Amino acid sequence: METPTKTDNGMPIAEDMVRGIDVSNGFDFYHVFENFATPKQLKVRDAVRDYMENEVKPHINDYWERAEFPMELFLKARDIEPHFIGGIVRGRGAAGLDPLEAGLVAYEMARVDGSIGTAHGVHTALGMTPIAFLGNDEQRDRWLPRMANLELIGAFGLTEPARGSAATDIQTTARKVGSEYVLNGAKRWIGNAAFAGVLIIWARDENGDIGGFVIEHPQEVEGVTIENIQGKIAKRAVMNADITLQDVVVPAATRLPKVRSFQDIGKVLLLGRIGVAWEAAGLAEGLFTAALEYAREREQFGKRIAEFQLIQDKLVEMATEVTLMQMMCFQLASMTAFGQLTPGVASMAKYNNARKARRVAALARETLGGNGIVLDYHVARLFTDAEATYTYEGTNEIQTLIVGREITGYSAFV
Ligand SMILES: Cc1cc2nc3c(=O)[nH]c(=O)nc-3n(C[C@H](O)[C@H](O)[C@H](O)COP(=O)(O)OP(=O)(O)OC[C@H]3O[C@@H](n4cnc5c(N)ncnc54)[C@H](O)[C@@H]3O)c2cc1C
Repeated sequence: METPTKTDNGMPIAEDMVRGIDVSNGFDFYHVFENFATPKQLKVRDAVRDYMENEVKPHINDYWERAEFPMELFLKARDIEPHFIGGIVRGRGAAGLDPLEAGLVAYEMARVDGSIGTAHGVHTALGMTPIAFLGNDEQRDRWLPRMANLELIGAFGLTEPARGSAATDIQTTARKVGSEYVLNGAKRWIGNAAFAGVLIIWARDENGDIGGFVIEHPQEVEGVTIENIQGKIAKRAVMNADITLQDVVVPAATRLPKVRSFQDIGKVLLLGRIGVAWEAAGLAEGLFTAALEYAREREQFGKRIAEFQLIQDKLVEMATEVTLMQMMCFQLASMTAFGQLTPGVASMAKYNNARKARRVAALARETLGGNGIVLDYHVARLFTDAEATYTYEGTNEIQTLIVGREITGYSAFV
C-alpha cells in the first residue's frame, strides 16, 4: 500500500506520522534544534555526539560497574574539533562557546552518560568559570590554559558534611598568616577532587568574608585528605570525594580577588544550574529514545509492545516532556544571550527539567521491563543518573524556594 502524504481534508502530513519517527540520530519532534540552532552551533553538538556515541558509549558500562573514572575516555575530549573545553570561558585556549553551544554540550553528554557529563560540567562550569570570572589575570594565566587542554582538571569544593542546601553558611575557615592562608574544615561530594589539578575551596576568613582559595594538586598538599565516596548508586563513574583540610597552608595569591559575597558564588551556581537543566533534558532524551527503540522491537502477546496503548501512553508522556524541556533550554540560551537571566529563571528550568527527567527515567525503565534494570540497555545507568541530577546544583526543594522567592517577593528559606 502506498504511504499517504495527505490527510482526507488535503492537509499534508509528515511521513513520520505513518512510519514512526527515526530517533537513531536524536529526537527533535518540534524541530527546535533544526529551526533555532545555527550550522556552527550544530557542529559543536555533532562533534560531542560523535565523541559520546563512539568513544564513550561502548565502554562506559564497565567503568560504571567498577565505579572507576574513565580518564582515558575523558581526555579524548581535548582533541575534538570544534574545541569545547572551557564552555563559555573565552581566551587562554578555552572554547568561548555561546550559551546555546554550551548547553548543547551538556545535553549531548548527558544523553549518553551522566558521569562523563558531570566530570566535564564540574571541570568547566565550576572549575574554570570561577577562575575566569572571579580571578585576576595572573591567576587566569596560571591555570586556565592548562585547564583548557585538560592538563589540569578542575574541582569545586563548596558543600560540607553538615552544610548542603544551606551552602551560604560555610564553616570551613581561612586564617590569614602573613602572606598565606591556613585552611581548616571539611567538604563533601566534591567531584573530580581525587585527580584534580585545581581545587577551589570556599571558606570564610576571620572577618566573616567568603573567599575562594585555589589549591594546586591538592593530593600532594600537606593537611589535605581526599577520600572518594564509595557505594554510590548514581553517576558511579564520576568520583565524588570527602575532603578534610587540616592546617592547610596556601599562598594568599591563590585567593580569588573578585569574590565579595556569596552572591558571587551564586552567579557561578546559576550558570551551573542552567547546565544541569540542559543535562536533565539530554538525559531524558537518551532515556526516551532508548525506550522507544526497545518498544518497537520487543514483542509480547504476538505484538510489538509499542502497539499497546498503555505503552504508547508512556512513550507519549516521555516525548512530550522531552520536547518541553528542549524548548525551555533553547529559551534559556536566548535569555542568557539577551542578558535576561535571573536566579528564578535558571532555577525554574533546573526545577522543571530535573523533576521531569526523573519521571521520564521511571517511564523508560518501566517500558523495558526487567531489561530496564540491567546496564546493557543503557537505560538503567541513565535512570540512576537522574537521581543525582535531581539533587545537585541545589535540590528540587531549593530550586522551588528560589523561584518562590522571585515570584512572591518573600524568601521562605533565608
Ligand atoms: C553526585 C553529586 C555530585 C556533587 N558534586 C558536588 C561538587 O562537585 N561540589 C560541591 O560543592 N557539591 C557537590 N554536590 C553536593 C550537592 O550540591 C548537595 O548534595 C546538595 O546541595 C544537597 O545537599 P545535601 O546533600 O547535604 O542535602 P541536604 O541539604 O541535607 O537536604 C536534605 C533534604 O532536605 C531538603 N531541604 C533542605 N533545606 C530545605 C528547606 N529550607 N526547605 C525544604 N527542604 C529543604 C533538601 O531539598 C533535601 O530534600 C554533589 C552532590 C551529588 C549527589
